[in-house]
Amino acid sequence: MSIDPYAWIESSLSTIHRADWYRFEQTISSIPGAVIQLEGRTVINFASNDYLGLAGDRRLIAAAVFATEEFGTGSTGSRLLSGHRQLHRELEKAIASLKQTEAALVFSSGYLANLGAIASIVGKRDLILSDRYNHSSLKNGAILSGATIIDYAHCNLTELENHLNQHREKYRRCLIITDSIFSMDGDLCPLPELLDLAEKFHCMVLVDEAHATGILGKNGAGSVEYFNCSDRPLIQIGTLSKALGSLGGYVAGSATLIDFLRNRAPTWIYTTGLSPADTAAALEAIKIVQQEPELRTQLWRNIETLKDLISQQLPNLKLLPSESAILCLQLKDAATALAAGSKLKEAGIFAPAIRPPTVPTSRIRISVMATHEAYQLEKLVAAFKSLL
Ligand code: PMP
Repeated sequence: MSIDPYAWIESSLSTIHRADWYRFEQTISSIPGAVIQLEGRTVINFASNDYLGLAGDRRLIAAAVFATEEFGTGSTGSRLLSGHRQLHRELEKAIASLKQTEAALVFSSGYLANLGAIASIVGKRDLILSDRYNHSSLKNGAILSGATIIDYAHCNLTELENHLNQHREKYRRCLIITDSIFSMDGDLCPLPELLDLAEKFHCMVLVDEAHATGILGKNGAGSVEYFNCSDRPLIQIGTLSKALGSLGGYVAGSATLIDFLRNRAPTWIYTTGLSPADTAAALEAIKIVQQEPELRTQLWRNIETLKDLISQQLPNLKLLPSESAILCLQLKDAATALAAGSKLKEAGIFAPAIRPPTVPTSRIRISVMATHEAYQLEKLVAAFKSLL
């Protein structure tokens, strides 16, 4: 009798279905923005990470088209072989200038930046301390590095200090890794206090600014700028795919670190360089973030308006604590979250359900954009009312 070695996949998929954890794509057929076409329906978009509305901005589109016409569609190889262009260097300089670091290195995604950076700077003899709610790319970077990993409770620096007291001395190097704004909760890591602990225990710190870049800080550089920590020793990671409206990721830090990663990070060395279109669009976005702080002001005005509307009209609604453009409505279980997502869609609101194993508890996740108009925020609150 022949045994099908792939049969387990179907049974595994059935288990995912039974738990209401089954995932699927929803097709958007319009340009990104506050209003989009979703599966043939016009909806207000509260699902994207395009916080400043730049992914559909004409200036980014023009930059991408120009770069494509000048330099072609693909970069044709690793940056160390045929894939390096002057545009990459310009983007790296712009990132370093925004982040107030000596240098930066652009990766093909934020995920790859985290994997490559973490796996290059620690190894088997080292310790990683990781916030339990960290993004998957930080967690998998930690696994890839081969270091010993200890998770600490979310933003709990007392627990972090206890682990450091107990374990730091047993290891050669120690790296603390954390999101700054947590992607599925919207709250903010207490970075200055975390850096104090790192200094006390001689640890490196890697902070992922994916959801903070373009949002926090006077110049939109992120939480490091917001907390006035730009001159403290740390490694900053980010993505070009959220507020910057493009694709790609980066590491920003000392010139020595960046030179080292250029020689060590496998997810930079052995992958194709970012396309000219993505590179040029990101470069344009950084200029806009620096030159148009009013976009950020508008985003924060919208966040405050939405929070006010919710607290006035829905005082019993259970929102998770947030210090960002991400607001989450906690729900009982995965089935309830899925049903809420469908109901919102019927009301013309796109706000997806986020379920385990991505998060410990199911929720509806709202992303506010600078380009949302007041009536769209009111429509969201009205749709929330119908859920109760
Ligand atoms: N870090 C965090 C905190 C994220 O939320 C994400 C994207 N979801 C990433 C890294 C990965 O970035 P990218 O989409 O550029 O791979």
